[in-house]
Amino acid sequence: MVEEYFYNGSLEKIKSITESLNAERVFIVHGKKSFSLSGAEEKINESCKEVILDSFNDFSPNPTHEEVLKGIELFNKEDYDLIVAVGGGSAIDVAKLINIFPFQKHPPEKYILKEEKIEFKGKPLLAVPTTAGTGSEATHFAVVYMGGKKYSVAHEHVLPDYVILDPELTFTLPKYQTACTGMDALCQGIESYWSINSTERSKEYAKKSIGLILENISRVYEKPDDLAARKNMLLGANLSGKAINISKTTAPHACSYVITSKCGIPHGHAVAIMMKEFLRYNGENIDKLIEKRGKDYYRKTISELYSLMGGSSPVEVSNHFNQKMNEIGLEPCLRNICENVQLDDFVSRVNRERLKNNPIIINRDDIVLIFKNVLA
Ligand code: NAD
Repeated sequence: MVEEYFYNGSLEKIKSITESLNAERVFIVHGKKSFSLSGAEEKINESCKEVILDSFNDFSPNPTHEEVLKGIELFNKEDYDLIVAVGGGSAIDVAKLINIFPFQKHPPEKYILKEEKIEFKGKPLLAVPTTAGTGSEATHFAVVYMGGKKYSVAHEHVLPDYVILDPELTFTLPKYQTACTGMDALCQGIESYWSINSTERSKEYAKKSIGLILENISRVYEKPDDLAARKNMLLGANLSGKAINISKTTAPHACSYVITSKCGIPHGHAVAIMMKEFLRYNGENIDKLIEKRGKDYYRKTISELYSLMGGSSPVEVSNHFNQKMNEIGLEPCLRNICENVQLDDFVSRVNRERLKNNPIIINRDDIVLIFKNVLA
């Protein structure tokens, strides 16, 4: 059972968590600048005066396997009572992996390549997100890049034991990052809602998440210190994490990773670029349905989703989404922000695993057309 704290100033709870664990030594994985910018560093130092704090921040926005190994080397030097992740999805994912690999029988690569199954739990893990985006604090998976390819390491033991959602830590998130991370959460909610793996519970989480993010994303973009709006965004992102923890993501995520790795466009922005295409594609191609619950179920689901998004037809909802991107300063057209796109290369790098969760079949020709649209 995850212990969750959600109120403004809730980072103070780190004190009682360390006390309840009798923690003497804590390993903190944090973003490079965001740790002090967000105010987390000062608050943790203040709350944990009696505890020895060691830290690791030597990783990039899309963490690599080599970076995780460096973190593990440091982590293995001492015996820690607790590991704390403070930052965006990348810090949380790195902490999850540093905390899981050293306790298994085989080297990390075996688990990244899914040649072995995770068996053992790591130390207690506390996740403190400073972006309202990935909801990684609520998922049992962690993303890592190896040899330029994206992998997801998944197991119940990867899920954090404690979560602190403290909205004031997100005030300092720059406008562009606020927009990108918020769109990641919105897309997770949408994809979870139409995923073939959805359940009543995941749809409930996704529905709440979509509503909260649509209502608040422009507000936080305009006014970064709007506490009520930041709080709603953090909750929305957390719920989107809880939703994909059950349903996983689908086609927009599958097609987005290549945009991030080849064009350097942040994850949430890349997913949003693909989402406006799939809001149409998944609504216009019901004859290519693979959702086992059938056409009536799917028609109902997609119409509920469109209505949550303030529209009724695929084109209308896709246009609304486009407008939302413009409203929060996100360029919707890939052509304007990524040069020299090699279409064949892009198409071959689409993540096949995630595509399988999409309710509508997508073949190679469909992907080519979709990429042509975002480049038009
Ligand atoms: P991020 O962690 O890379 O952070 C984005 C940027 O914002 C960084 O430069 C960071 O330093 C800065 N930042 C963060 N908080 C800040 C703050 N409060 N003030 C100022 N600057 C701040 O981005 P993200 O979108 O949160 O995470 C993306 C990563 O998460 C990717 O690697 C993605 O693959 C992964 N991801 C994981 C899951 C999961 O469930 N495990 C789900 C989705 C995405």
